[in-house]
Amino acid sequence: MPSTLSYQFSPIGIVHSCYKEKFGIPRQPGLVTEPTARLELIPPYNRLDTLDGLSDFSHIWVHFIFHATASEKWKAKVRPPRLGGKEKVGVFASRSTHRPNPIGLSVIQIGRIYTENNKVFIDLIGADLLDQTPVLDIKPYLPYADKIADAEGGFAPSKAETHNVIFSALAESQCRKYEDLHKKPITTLIKQVIEQDPRPSYLSNQVDREHGISLWDINIKWCARNDHFEIIKIEYE
Ligand code: SAM
Repeated sequence: MPSTLSYQFSPIGIVHSCYKEKFGIPRQPGLVTEPTARLELIPPYNRLDTLDGLSDFSHIWVHFIFHATASEKWKAKVRPPRLGGKEKVGVFASRSTHRPNPIGLSVIQIGRIYTENNKVFIDLIGADLLDQTPVLDIKPYLPYADKIADAEGGFAPSKAETHNVIFSALAESQCRKYEDLHKKPITTLIKQVIEQDPRPSYLSNQVDREHGISLWDINIKWCARNDHFEIIKIEYE
């Protein structure tokens, strides 16, 4: 037996995502109903035959690296946003990005599987992944084994409550123009991202403070009002 067991893995793919920074990424997959990313298979796995049969499944498990925080130290206890950033739980009782091995796991609905410019892609619907995330493996989600109807959800037993989102007249017309031009449902994406309140816990009581979130090639300016969130305008980056 070797004294230490260590393994080296290399990615099978890379994620191209609408989320260009961590701020604004939903805290779990499936909270947004639009394609938010696509997975590109990288050589030598960039072959359609590696995906034969996959289109018969609706979801995949995506094993990925929290590459943007991988160099940061892990902590034995963390403060999950669902506990308001106040209470701590053990790292292995959490889905924190700060782990001994910075590996993430998301179950994600798949869209189109296709080739473009000799590259192989899978559209990922509602992915909670940062742009350029390296992917270690994908596997089909097997409902008979993976769906556990009476499972206990600990401190996060159900989806977090969502907030009312209102678009200013300016933001509404900007979004309409964007959709006409790019054929991407940006209004729904913005609404579904902001309604989850992406603010860190320490800012969650502040109203009227302007925030910016990057999605695809635009920056969304928005703020929390007393009883809703307002989308103020969008700016091209
Ligand atoms: N579903 C995954 C899991 O449970 O392992 C991820 C959950 S983690 C709480 C979700 C957060 O990870 C996102 O809100 C985003 O801030 C962060 N994230 C996503 N991709 C990342 C990456 N490549 N590097 C670092 N952080 C990332």
